[in-house]
Amino acid sequence: MNEKCCPRCEHQSILRPRGFSDQATASLVTWGEMDKKVVGQPICDDCHSELRDALIEHLRASTEKELEAGRAKNKRAS
Ligand SMILES: [Zn+2]
Repeated sequence: MNEKCCPRCEHQSILRPRGFSDQATASLVTWGEMDKKVVGQPICDDCHSELRDALIEHLRASTEKELEAGRAKNKRAS
């Protein structure tokens, strides 16, 4: 087993490079989900699923906000 210390959670685990887009990575850093020092580094499976869940969660929240704003606008227009 090729276990290393994960730069994010500091657990011994198998680390793999993760293909988050630049935009997703920037967002994760902005939200405090990912430390700048972790950017571009391989991380463990647990961290990867946490970050992926965080991305989905934040995207859903902002989409809902946009939908609400859109609805409010439509209401005012009619
Ligand atoms: Zn980790």
